[in-house]
Amino acid sequence: MHVIILGAPGAGKGTQSAEIVKQFDLQHLSTGDMLRAEIAAGSELGLAAKTVMDKGELVSDEIILGMVAEQIKNSKKGMLFDGFPRTAVQAEGLDELLASLGSEISHVILLDIDNDEIVKRMLARGREDDNEETIRNRLAVFDNQTAPLIHYYQSQDKLATVLGSGTVEEIFARIHKVLSA
Ligand code: ADP
Repeated sequence: MHVIILGAPGAGKGTQSAEIVKQFDLQHLSTGDMLRAEIAAGSELGLAAKTVMDKGELVSDEIILGMVAEQIKNSKKGMLFDGFPRTAVQAEGLDELLASLGSEISHVILLDIDNDEIVKRMLARGREDDNEETIRNRLAVFDNQTAPLIHYYQSQDKLATVLGSGTVEEIFARIHKVLSA
């Protein structure tokens, strides 16, 4: 089983991902976490990524697909993709990668929540790239580049939309139902 959790920045993907991987024994792959690890390590990739991330723009598809390919090839478990794919090129690249391993995405969970709630949550979280201007840009980038993936997975009949408001437990219960069906 390979699962994608899709949703705007601040929709709660990271929080729900932690719970999903525990309950369904999946490997968590967060491209945001991977990039932050590169930054913390002071690598060349991290240095380049930081400039882009601080503006709320997307890191190049080539870098992202390279990082992900390595993880997928080394994994023995089902994967949970969090914060990836974020563009059509990434989504197609992921399908090709999995197909080359004789596998495919089984479920795409769309965490649905409105923008006002998102801005409130992100300002409370206070990560380095969580200032109001960057947040607004990330939401615009989501609408332009990532939201089209909703249709991509809908047309593959893999999309399940889950209401992203409520308590962490309430939201997880909705996700659990989808993944258990
Ligand atoms: P959030 O979803 O809350 O914005 P992430 O940790 O997923 O947080 O991403 C933080 C930043 O890292 C993004 O704004 C972007 O610059 C970069 N990033 C993460 N994943 C990707 C990806 N798949 N493609 C391009 N850029 C990415």
